[in-house]
Amino acid sequence: MGDDCARILVADGMELAITTDLLVEGRHFLPRADARKLGHKALAVNLSDLAAAGATPRWATLALCLPAADEAWLAEFSDGLFALAERHRVELIGGDTTRGPLAIDITALGEVPRGLALSRAGAQPGDDIWVSGELGGAALALVHPEIAGAARRLHEPQPRVALGERLRGLARAAIDVSDGLAGDLGHILERSKVGAVVDYERIPRDPSFRKLANAQLEAQCVLSGGDDYELLFAAQAGQRARIEALSSELGLALSRIGAITPGTALTVLDKNGKPMPYKGGYDHFAGI
Ligand SMILES: [Mg+2]
Repeated sequence: MGDDCARILVADGMELAITTDLLVEGRHFLPRADARKLGHKALAVNLSDLAAAGATPRWATLALCLPAADEAWLAEFSDGLFALAERHRVELIGGDTTRGPLAIDITALGEVPRGLALSRAGAQPGDDIWVSGELGGAALALVHPEIAGAARRLHEPQPRVALGERLRGLARAAIDVSDGLAGDLGHILERSKVGAVVDYERIPRDPSFRKLANAQLEAQCVLSGGDDYELLFAAQAGQRARIEALSSELGLALSRIGAITPGTALTVLDKNGKPMPYKGGYDHFAGI
């Protein structure tokens, strides 16, 4: 900090993984959103992208557009951001601020051993499809903000950094679930040039859905709701025991929800084995 450029010396044998995510008030978060949670989420979504690449987060830059110099807001925003940065030993190495409509852009940089980065390409027919944690909670919080567990999901997502690191050499393709299961799995299928069959009943979901007993809302949130920031990955069937052991070691549920197939289609089967409808996911340009 305090110079024109930051300089990074990358260790021998390592690659840099770089990601950037722009959050705009009114588009990605509501006006007057909690500043501390915004600070957390702005960094978390970037760390989630590094996790999907199997990279270890190391550095970040922050570009902030603010309507006014609001000291209290900035203090809270920084608290949220730095608490998460410290937990993952991420160093803030640069940034810029300007006046204008509230927008937050973080660029995060991570390291991954050369040749071991995970990508969306690489899934092959016969591979299992796995997902971490539970899905649908963040989307549920948009409809039911009073459900505390779901609201935490939406506003304070936990990037699956440790899992991403451990999936190096184990997963053949990976992505983080930011746009919804159907949409993000669709990205893997597109890049890997394969299809998939997913068993709806096997998809792990936020426990709040049980009490709500609204099957339609549940299916929509679980299949197409965004913002959960779990990792979705494909791995060879021969890796099941290793993945189950990893799940116990990390204390994080890893659920096998389907299989990669030849072709290009994504089919979701209901509990009777019949294809069920789903929406593709979140469209970044919808409504613009
Ligand atoms: Mg992503």
